[in-house]
Amino acid sequence: MYWTKTLIPTLREAPADAEILSHKLLLRAGLIRKLAGGVYTFLPLGLRALRKVEQIVRDEMNRAGAIELLMPALQPPEIWQQSGRYETARDVLFKVKDSASREWVLSATAEEVITSVAAGEINSYRQLPKNFYQVSVKFRDEIRPRFGLMRAREFIMKDAYSFDVTDEAAQASYQKMYDAYTKIFARCGLKAFAVEADTGVIGGKYSHEFMIPAETGENEVVFCEACGYAANIEKATSGLPTTASREAGATPEKFATPGVVTIEALTKGPYSVAANRQIKTLVYIADSKAVIVLIRGDDQLNEAKFAGKLGTTVFRAATAEEIFDAMGAHPGSLGAVTSTRKKTDIQVFADERLRGANGMTTGANEDGFHLNNVSIERDIQVTQWADLRTVNAGEPCAKCGKTLKIRRAIEVGHVFKLGTKYSEAFNAAYLDEAGARKPCVMGCYGIGVTRTLQAVIEQCNDKDGIIWPLNVAPYTVCITPLNVDINNEAMKLAEKIYADLTARGIDVILDDRDERPGVKFKDADLVGFPIRVGIGEKSLAKGEIEIKPRGGALQAVKTADAVEAVMKLVNA
Ligand code: ATP
Ligand code: MG
Repeated sequence: MYWTKTLIPTLREAPADAEILSHKLLLRAGLIRKLAGGVYTFLPLGLRALRKVEQIVRDEMNRAGAIELLMPALQPPEIWQQSGRYETARDVLFKVKDSASREWVLSATAEEVITSVAAGEINSYRQLPKNFYQVSVKFRDEIRPRFGLMRAREFIMKDAYSFDVTDEAAQASYQKMYDAYTKIFARCGLKAFAVEADTGVIGGKYSHEFMIPAETGENEVVFCEACGYAANIEKATSGLPTTASREAGATPEKFATPGVVTIEALTKGPYSVAANRQIKTLVYIADSKAVIVLIRGDDQLNEAKFAGKLGTTVFRAATAEEIFDAMGAHPGSLGAVTSTRKKTDIQVFADERLRGANGMTTGANEDGFHLNNVSIERDIQVTQWADLRTVNAGEPCAKCGKTLKIRRAIEVGHVFKLGTKYSEAFNAAYLDEAGARKPCVMGCYGIGVTRTLQAVIEQCNDKDGIIWPLNVAPYTVCITPLNVDINNEAMKLAEKIYADLTARGIDVILDDRDERPGVKFKDADLVGFPIRVGIGEKSLAKGEIEIKPRGGALQAVKTADAVEAVMKLVNA
């Protein structure tokens, strides 16, 4: 490709709404342009890099035995109702109406579609296992689209769905995908690592997210350098001891705490109740009903863990009025001690760390009062005990006791063992050898292809611009003749090297712009081509050209050796 024949609108400055470096570089290097918030056009170079990521994804998916198909983006709402996700995923579903006012759902993912296909086409164990995948546009009504391609409204995802006869077989399919993902991200030049992930509403043991460490990442990962434990903070646990028991008082005792409405205020004199001796009482609304959550005063509720226990992600903090209606008191004086409860039919979820705790302090359900001497298991009717707290850095690792750390990261992929949730909902069953009908055991596996592309930029850059890894660069080599007159020796040689490299299957761009060398070099560095070949009259007079790997040292090479020298770098 000749530079002037394509479109590479580089910018000196990034538009003001680009917050993170990779987003700025995508715009400055002329790879994408914004149409609306979370909606982008891929310009020619951006598309080339995207296609390379897609090709790596396809290659490894095919190699792992998955088969490609393509499902519609326009989906009838009935299948989303059938799976229950019309409700549970309603926050992110884009819906459109046709001219007859009939509603459609735009694909946010495709479990519903693929399971319907499987239900129709698979009926014998002989057809299994199968793993179907597609690379396609997805739509999600994100509350906060931001950071360019990282959190977009419209983006490209590779999604795969495996169907197996048994749990064991499904586990093998899962492992194949896990291994394929490891290879995919490595081939993209990314340093990715897998972490245990929240299994959310579906539950189950097997889910991993593939993460790219980055300060700008929207995820927090808890990890232990000593034993390798790593988990999303939504799922992570630690080896912290439970609450120390004290001598249990005879009965809870009410005491006045005028104006005290925070854990912190109660730790101060004259009360001096340490936060770890307090029970924090939170009220949420799920499915239009109030739910009480109890957490130790010095802990934070982990909403992802709570969602998993509730069985839905659709819940919210109760308003002041709803709280008063449910509890008979205002925030700051709330408690779940049974004898003080206004309504006793409200579910109470309690964090495991409170199990067996006594000598605790909590709100009295009466504004301006608290209770001492609370023994949680004696005085509070807990509906469900669960791990509901968020791990903090510095806590001991549950596996080895060493200190846990927390780092930020970008989630680029997700593998998930689904079990039979969808196959049962859609009747995707097979007949086993004995003729018995059984639901297929499923797994699903997603890679954010466009997010991965941006993650590469987030990880591979310097002050001058992008440093593309060879495998995903829009062009591998940029040839920069300093004189572009077609009769000039530099241009003639540039064209010859261009032809030779192209013949060898290398993606080459020739910068034929009539611009100052400084401008051309700056642009080449900004766009980040892995190898630049500079052809100037001065070095030509010595029979040499200059080769410069992006981010590496410039080397002078004899003109006759130019192509070989480039090939050596490409194959290094
Ligand atoms: P997140 O937690 O970031 O919202 P998710 O858990 O909703 O992601 P999945 O449903 O697991 O995402 O989708 C698979 C992959 O699709 C993710 O690992 C991510 O790489 C990508 N992805 C999800 N949402 C977006 C988005 N809004 N923009 C770009 N990529 C996305
Ligand atoms: Mg995910």
